[in-house]
Amino acid sequence: MRVAIVSVGDELLAGDTVNTNAAWLGQRLDERGVTVARVTVVPDDVGAIAKVVNEYRAAYDAVLVTGGVGPTHDDVTMDGVAAAFGRDLAASDEVLEWLTTTGGYSAEDLAAGTTEIPEGARMLVNPEGVAPGCVIGGVYVLPGVPAEMKAMFGEVADEFAGEVGHTESVVAAEPESELLDRLAGVRTRFDVTVGSYPGENVRVKIQGSDAETVESAAAWLRDRAQRPATE
Ligand code: ATP
Ligand code: MG
Repeated sequence: MRVAIVSVGDELLAGDTVNTNAAWLGQRLDERGVTVARVTVVPDDVGAIAKVVNEYRAAYDAVLVTGGVGPTHDDVTMDGVAAAFGRDLAASDEVLEWLTTTGGYSAEDLAAGTTEIPEGARMLVNPEGVAPGCVIGGVYVLPGVPAEMKAMFGEVADEFAGEVGHTESVVAAEPESELLDRLAGVRTRFDVTVGSYPGENVRVKIQGSDAETVESAAAWLRDRAQRPATE
């Protein structure tokens, strides 16, 4: 399964908010064996959201959109997703029932637009807040508030599945440029993918479908790389 994540919010583009939602979703999806093929940040703009949602729903098995849901003026994600499908927003009886029963709100207390999702979409309950999410045509709309996004993803996590591979990490205490010969060595000797992430040390991430092959590749590299003093 290959998916894309679309993070909506002017504040993400301005750097006011760090996009922890995409990182968290990426980890959850990766551990389920789902490949995250794209992460894109778009502004709070109906046309920009519709454009990228349309591109990604054609290219991937699912699209996860976070942020910009709810009734405030700058929350236009539902409009953008509806536009991508050529639909209107419609007040949902399902949402109203959820908010007035489980949520404990009276219909009169709800701000205008609170119950609106794209026509024909399936509602997703928000265990941590008032704004519902929804699913339409493989596009999952989740809130921006991290606790709400995480709780709502929990409701649909089982809809995301793939082949879970095996991963090993090797830490090498030498410049990445000097490690190149051994990185190439792992790749030519073993059927694995190799990621190399320099920092204070170089973290090498070795992945493959066969656990034994990945362990052998990691052992081969560990034997040949400079080990950090404190590993
Ligand atoms: P609400 O229903 O409260 O309006 P929302 O779904 O509309 O929520 P936003 O208005 O986009 O979400 O963002 C609410 C808050 O959630 C932001 O102030 C920000 O702190 C946080 N947030 C939004 N997007 C992200 C993200 N991608 N990563 C981390 N935090 C985020
Ligand atoms: Mg908002």
